[in-house]
Amino acid sequence: MIKAAARPSARSVTSRATTVAPGDRFGRLTVTAEDEPYLWRGRFSRRRWACDCACGGSAVVREDSLLSGHTVSCGCVRDELTRERATRHGARAGDKRRPEYQAWQTMLHGQDARVCARWQAPAGRGFKAFLADLGPRPTPQHRLVRRDPARPFTPGNTAWVESPPRAGVPRRLITVRGRRMTLRDAAAEAGIAYATLCKRLERGWSTRAALTP
Ligand SMILES: [Zn+2]
Repeated sequence: MIKAAARPSARSVTSRATTVAPGDRFGRLTVTAEDEPYLWRGRFSRRRWACDCACGGSAVVREDSLLSGHTVSCGCVRDELTRERATRHGARAGDKRRPEYQAWQTMLHGQDARVCARWQAPAGRGFKAFLADLGPRPTPQHRLVRRDPARPFTPGNTAWVESPPRAGVPRRLITVRGRRMTLRDAAAEAGIAYATLCKRLERGWSTRAALTP
């Protein structure tokens, strides 16, 4: 009994811990005001709060998302993580959409991945050197090939070579923003793996969705 009088009951502690009020901070978010509630099947489900983000943005967030720590920003934190993943090899964010970047990646992670140290340099220098040595891919029909496949990928042994479609390999074409192109080229241009694009199309995704990285 003495203990119970000395501190608030468990119930009031719990309710205090599950209440959001203006001025509360959750990660980068500061709660400013209550917003329209979240409705589920037309009924009241959760309170929602308008929040200012430290980045200058704002968001309306469900109370349970704030309290659980699920949402800690207006979306800028997630965007930053995405950018970080995209630039793991150190290239600029825009680089990964380039077909040259795809070719460079395929070369580095290919079955025979013997690649000169210059093209493997960290922090984006490898890709920059690769691009400087070989130049941009002249056309979508050009492939990265080694003059002597028995030797590693080096500036002297590697070039963009125009290759005709391989006989016996069916080339499915799709239309992307009015242009007919092969799945392989569409995947390279969109910055996604060819296998991923094939899988998505097999699952019935729209062309637009399938090509979204
Ligand atoms: Zn933000």
